[in-house]
Amino acid sequence: MHIVVTIKQVPDTNEVRIDKKTGTLIREGVPAIMNPEDKHALEAALCIREELGDVKVTVLSMGPPQAGNTLMEALCLGADEAFLACDKAFAGADTLATAYTLAMALKKIAPVDLVLCGSQAIDGDTAQVGPQIAECLGIPQITYAERIKASEKSVEVESGFGAVRRRVSADLPALVTVGKAINRPRYKTMKGIAAAFRDKGVQLLTSQDIKVNPGRIGLTGSPTSVKKTFVPELGRAGRIIDGGPETLSLGIIHTLEAENLLPKS
Ligand SMILES: Cc1cc2nc3c(=O)[nH]c(=O)nc-3n(C[C@H](O)[C@H](O)[C@H](O)COP(=O)(O)OP(=O)(O)OC[C@H]3O[C@@H](n4cnc5c(N)ncnc54)[C@H](O)[C@@H]3O)c2cc1C
Repeated sequence: MHIVVTIKQVPDTNEVRIDKKTGTLIREGVPAIMNPEDKHALEAALCIREELGDVKVTVLSMGPPQAGNTLMEALCLGADEAFLACDKAFAGADTLATAYTLAMALKKIAPVDLVLCGSQAIDGDTAQVGPQIAECLGIPQITYAERIKASEKSVEVESGFGAVRRRVSADLPALVTVGKAINRPRYKTMKGIAAAFRDKGVQLLTSQDIKVNPGRIGLTGSPTSVKKTFVPELGRAGRIIDGGPETLSLGIIHTLEAENLLPKS
């Protein structure tokens, strides 16, 4: 069985800074990490390998050369093989062009039985790429997995939506998107790190390698155009009340009264 986990390198920050002139994300000086849900997807794949035995776990990313560091981390955690779709022609891709490129890379490294993705990335945050990959490949998709039971021929997925629990199964090949509730990702071990740097490495895939249609990748293949991006301004300033317990409690009461936030007696 061959499982491929798609992994996106994302900026490690909630403090998104935007270049006011260009409206694009400022990435310089911001450390990059593996998208958190992708770590859970990788953990799910490693657990399936431990349970079923004869399973190969491959990780795949599309991004600039530095995304290779995140794939190296996945190899240290236990993935068997890593591919980075990396080409200037992929730059400026929206979710559709990203999904198409990843789908074509998956075709290149086929046969693939199960594709695992994070449900959404913490920067782009659209949750579109997983389902779009499944559409490009014409395979079944199951989203927001909180439990995965895989066998050689099928996959059964459980997910929760408030009070409702859903159990869905699909024949393989299939794609499943994974949420954080599914597991606790493991830590890297010295043995895993040594094996990754000694025996494994990241293989690059260019647009030529994966035989893409040039009109469907990068900026040219992106039907979305971002008109404006901005960080919302904070509308209210905090107020600090100094003093002992009595002054503090009266201060809070008077503030709440002034704002009309206390119930009328
Ligand atoms: C017009 C336009 C131009 C853009 N230009 C750029 C640009 O120049 N540079 C840039 O960095 N971004 C750019 N983006 C953002 C880019 O489209 C998204 O980062 C990307 O498509 C993923 O979308 P998302 O972050 O919403 O992922 P989601 O759909 O939320 O991600 C879900 C899951 O899909 C998988 N996934 C997503 N992206 C990747 C990936 N690249 N590799 C492997 N797995 C992945 C992961 O498993 C992830 O957990 C642009 C977006 C638009 C709309």
